[in-house]
Amino acid sequence: MINYTERIALLIEDFVRRSPSLSFINPAEILVFGRFGRADRGGAFATCHCLTLPTSEPGYFFWRDRATGELTRQSEWFVTKSPTVRVGRTRIKYLISFVLPRFCNQSLAHSRMKADRYPNAPPWVGKLDTIVHELYHIDPGQAGLRRLKCANGSDSERSHVPHFYEDVARLVNAYLNSGPDPALIGFLEYDFDALADRFGGIVATTFTNFPSYPQRYMERLPLPASDPLVRIERIKQANQPELYTERDLHVRHFTVASARRLTRKRQRRAA
Ligand SMILES: [Zn+2]
Repeated sequence: MINYTERIALLIEDFVRRSPSLSFINPAEILVFGRFGRADRGGAFATCHCLTLPTSEPGYFFWRDRATGELTRQSEWFVTKSPTVRVGRTRIKYLISFVLPRFCNQSLAHSRMKADRYPNAPPWVGKLDTIVHELYHIDPGQAGLRRLKCANGSDSERSHVPHFYEDVARLVNAYLNSGPDPALIGFLEYDFDALADRFGGIVATTFTNFPSYPQRYMERLPLPASDPLVRIERIKQANQPELYTERDLHVRHFTVASARRLTRKRQRRAA
């Protein structure tokens, strides 16, 4: 079987090596994993998840009486934190998830705007564009996700200003012109069914709490209420680990309709 997320990770490594403007990225600090999403439904193809955002300031939710404006209830105090993800001795700074099988069936033909940025390119370049799009969200200052400038030089509220897409297309075209090894990018030429036929199946790295994965969570703080008479609502405790390691990674077999954990025997065959 083909390990799809491993193939993407190897491609990312090569892409970064051949792209001087992305030299601030350390591919060892990126973990690529799979999420399930049917190809016949709409939705995201991939997402860049940042693990380097600092813990938030302490805060709480509150409710007011509509008529009097008086504070009626408040939640417990909490901070919002990013979990830590470590693989061996490396602390992971970014996760990039790919939605399978949906991502595998992406094609330039499905998006006019994308196709316009890649005239005469084969349809699978749409997938390379998505991979690089997610990489391009990594902030050069490693301070989270890339902040984008508007045409007037101010910070944009949106993370996708028009030149974001153009920058990505420029990087993709430069990479393709640099003569990358077909053994590294060839897997993108096939859609999900063709790839599964060719390799006898598609597996991907996932987290053991699949379909969940490391996400920001709230941690309760033992601070008194801002008004001693107000009712306190408990906040929902996070039901996910604060620390994920390589022991929290599993390989799953993805089909058009499901993602099942591999048994040891099948895992050996997929290696
Ligand atoms: Zn984006």
